[in-house]
Amino acid sequence: MQDRQTLIFDADDTLWENNVIFERVVADFIDWLAHPTLDPAAIRAILAEIEEANVVAHGYGSTVFLRSLRECFTHLTERPMGAAEEMRMAEFTAAFTSGRVELIPSVIDVLDELSARHDLFLMTKGAPDEQQRKIDASGLAEHFAGVDIVPTKEPATYRRVLAERALDAGRTWMIGNSPKSDIIAARAAGLRAVFIPNANTWAHEHAELDPADGGILHLQVFGELIKHF
Ligand SMILES: [Mg+2]
Repeated sequence: MQDRQTLIFDADDTLWENNVIFERVVADFIDWLAHPTLDPAAIRAILAEIEEANVVAHGYGSTVFLRSLRECFTHLTERPMGAAEEMRMAEFTAAFTSGRVELIPSVIDVLDELSARHDLFLMTKGAPDEQQRKIDASGLAEHFAGVDIVPTKEPATYRRVLAERALDAGRTWMIGNSPKSDIIAARAAGLRAVFIPNANTWAHEHAELDPADGGILHLQVFGELIKHF
């Protein structure tokens, strides 16, 4: 591919690990609860239901997730948290405020190389201060001509960003791990898309991709991008 393209990168679970941090906290939370009758799968199902409702009401991010953990605790124990339990919650909170990110392998080298040939942007959804903190911690901002932190990734979100940045949909690609918000929504807005799965993608983001859609490039790992762009 010789022509200069516009590449828009998702961030969480595409450039750096994110959902695995939530998974670790959920596992620790369930161990800590040591519920006398419910097994981990049952507690996960209850937590997932609480999370779904809170995402609709309050949006994405660790603050909303921690609120869900707290609600799950009071739902299961039928009492508020005591002082020692509040301290344990503070430890769970610290998992999200360490000021570090775990970059996906080869991300720095690939962005270095691609930014010499193409125009790179970053588009991430979530709480603005939390997403900005991760962008700052990643040290990757210099690779991008622009960064958009958006509340959701709907087809209209992509159309708005394309219009605001005067980008041509025909040579713009969305690159991400989420079938629903990175691939299907971008395709609906006329972009092409690169799907790079992450084993820890949040269940909320799963969706089937149309195998007959020629506008979607399927890769196994991030490093493969340099063979195609
Ligand atoms: Mg993602």
